[in-house]
Amino acid sequence: MTQDLSAVQASDNVWEMAQRQLDEVGSLIGLNESLHGYLRVPKRVLEVSVPARMDNGGFRMFTGYRVQHNMSRGPGKGGIRFHPDVTLDEVKALAMWMTWKCALVNIPFGGAKGGVICDPKHMSMQELENLTRRFTSEISIIIGPEKDIPAPDVYTTPQIMAWIMDTFSMQHGYSISGVVTGKPLAIGGSLGRDKATARGCMYVVDEALETQGRTIEGARVAIQGFGNAGMYAATLMAERGYRVVAVSDSHGGVANERGLDIKGLVAHKSETGSVVGFTGGERTDNREVLEFDCDVLVPAALEKVITRENAPRVRASIVAEAANGPTMPDADDILFDRGVMVLPDILANAGGVTVSYFEWVQDLQANFWEEEEINERLKRKLTRSFREAHEQAKRHGVSMRKGAYCVAVARVAEATKLRGLYP
Ligand code: NAD
Repeated sequence: MTQDLSAVQASDNVWEMAQRQLDEVGSLIGLNESLHGYLRVPKRVLEVSVPARMDNGGFRMFTGYRVQHNMSRGPGKGGIRFHPDVTLDEVKALAMWMTWKCALVNIPFGGAKGGVICDPKHMSMQELENLTRRFTSEISIIIGPEKDIPAPDVYTTPQIMAWIMDTFSMQHGYSISGVVTGKPLAIGGSLGRDKATARGCMYVVDEALETQGRTIEGARVAIQGFGNAGMYAATLMAERGYRVVAVSDSHGGVANERGLDIKGLVAHKSETGSVVGFTGGERTDNREVLEFDCDVLVPAALEKVITRENAPRVRASIVAEAANGPTMPDADDILFDRGVMVLPDILANAGGVTVSYFEWVQDLQANFWEEEEINERLKRKLTRSFREAHEQAKRHGVSMRKGAYCVAVARVAEATKLRGLYP
């Protein structure tokens, strides 16, 4: 496939970054040119204009997207993001990453993603509900338990999933819990889903430490982002014996080299809305957290935070990408050259979609599992995925990201090829 990689390298467009990651493994696995071209673009892109009633009695127009990248291995799967910076290119990149993620952990889903350009921090619950219900209606033509199953992402919650499930069910005249995952337990959610992304991230960090011959006890962790992924990662890792030394959220950060009291910090965040001001550590900021003296860095907020500028200053020996797309391609190369093991997003945050898959299976069967069983199945899937990616990385002498892509892209390519072209 001919293309000017230097131009892509210079760009910080997240969609071009996702395409470039695919291009780089194409040659490693001998992907043929037409299949490569097929996998390089989304199958379907839906842009919707969403009128939502505001508390002042009027209504406002919002723009939303649902993108389905590849569905050769099963229905689309991927979260919905509510954020002012959502762009179509970002949603396309996130949908492509979902394709690889589902394939890497070997669950029968394709990749999809959604987003609405909005600022939920400045909307009331009623306004959020109105927006969610109308957005669901607008995308209902392409979602469904056998077609495409949304889930939570940045600033979307189990309550928002409940509104999606209810809206879709009302349109069809009966309860369809399998249309969305990440729901509250009372309406078909799964035990363990809330902590699944963080738990999966911890399992792969455990494995990575083992390959480096190091122990979990006392390993120092810095986490950027203190939401679903970041806060639970801090909680679970602290419980397991890791020492969480720095965390941050959109307002700033807090650090303590002796280890933060995570229970106290979670209570502080729920009282004040931020980790800033917590008295059990010193103030730090989002930039400093990435460069903090630690063994494991967990970016758990937004994309493109590790760049060619700060990559040389990252002090961790393991970077576990709880967030999607936190490392720019140039930074990836710098970290690899410096011997830093980057556990790519499609592996490090795949715990979320894995338990989403378990939730969907439970909904379809109307038979719900114990949390212990869920965590055990999750651990098995992620440990196996880590080992498969690690084996490919060693075999080709490449990064864990490329190793993971080799596994994932080969699986999607095989399914796409086997199904052939219709008509
Ligand atoms: P969330 O909304 O629960 O939390 C986001 C966190 O990021 C908040 O603490 C917020 O304060 C912080 N944040 C926002 N802007 C920031 C900035 N500029 N600097 C530092 N922190 C900032 O979202 P989440 O579900 O935890 O998602 C975080 C990341 O994890 C995203 O990239 C998402 O795609 C990814 N992810 C989440 C899941 C999941 O199950 N929730 C699964 C896979 C991947």
